[in-house]
Amino acid sequence: MRGEVVWDHGVALPGHSLWLDPLVVRSFAFISHAHTDHARRHKEALLTPQTLALIPEERRPRAWRMLGYGERLRRGAGTVTLHSAGHMLGSAQLHFDDDGWSVLYTGDIKLRQPGRIETFVPRADVLILETTYGRPHFRFGDPDETLETIARWCRRALDSRVTPVLLCHALGKTEEVMLQLSRFGFSFALEKRCVPCARQYAMAGRSLPNWIELNVEPVRDRVVISPPAGKDDIRRLDRYRTALISGWAKDPDFARLFGADATFDLSDHCDFDELVEVVERSGAEQVYTVHGFTEDFARSLRRKGVKAWALEKNEQLALAL
Ligand SMILES: [Zn+2]
Repeated sequence: MRGEVVWDHGVALPGHSLWLDPLVVRSFAFISHAHTDHARRHKEALLTPQTLALIPEERRPRAWRMLGYGERLRRGAGTVTLHSAGHMLGSAQLHFDDDGWSVLYTGDIKLRQPGRIETFVPRADVLILETTYGRPHFRFGDPDETLETIARWCRRALDSRVTPVLLCHALGKTEEVMLQLSRFGFSFALEKRCVPCARQYAMAGRSLPNWIELNVEPVRDRVVISPPAGKDDIRRLDRYRTALISGWAKDPDFARLFGADATFDLSDHCDFDELVEVVERSGAEQVYTVHGFTEDFARSLRRKGVKAWALEKNEQLALAL
């Protein structure tokens, strides 16, 4: 079926032998970005050069076809084009056009980025959208204002001889936060899990501001960045304060789990309103949701008159039967 979209260990367009971020090894698959939940050792992968550079050797596909943003690739009777997804270095949305029928797969996507940068959303008949934060209580503040608040929080801590510790995902979030905070004059110390990611980021073409590895040298006057799992090394610091930097800051129960002293809702995923905006900008008549609150967001769209279904949930129901 030409226009069929199904979930089978990942999103698939079976009529075009195209797999989008599949969770199992496939013969030809699109990898939207380098986070571990997306990279598999496919026989051949379609990805951006930056995503390939960010995937560690042991998780790399066996062969690949690199495509830059805006470049086109023939796939059977159709054409594939990649566009930036604004989620992390190299992250891409995939647009597939087959003789006037088009589908857009967003992968992990962020619409509003610091510096008033907006991610372009191409138009498509069918939209496959990631809905990590697909519930209405996930509404994030302006990213530039949030960054300024984080910078003030770090400065206040340093001024009182307390080490500010930002809890961030090691790949992507850590490096983007470093780049954004560097314009406030900070330098950084990274917990060991962030270190290989920072090196990969620099090798993939985005040079980072001054940083050292935590516990190798004294961290005086530096902002420490650590994944939430890195608390053992953090506890060895003399005086410190922690802040969770995540969209989950908007969920009090989840934020409490991290036990951070402060939370800031700076995210590399769309909030609820941004997700609605992606749907509107795409102009899609049909929407499939994947990841996170798929059922909730699809229901919200149906209330607005959009034909929307949770793609992943259907598979889980089928398995349960
Ligand atoms: Zn991601």
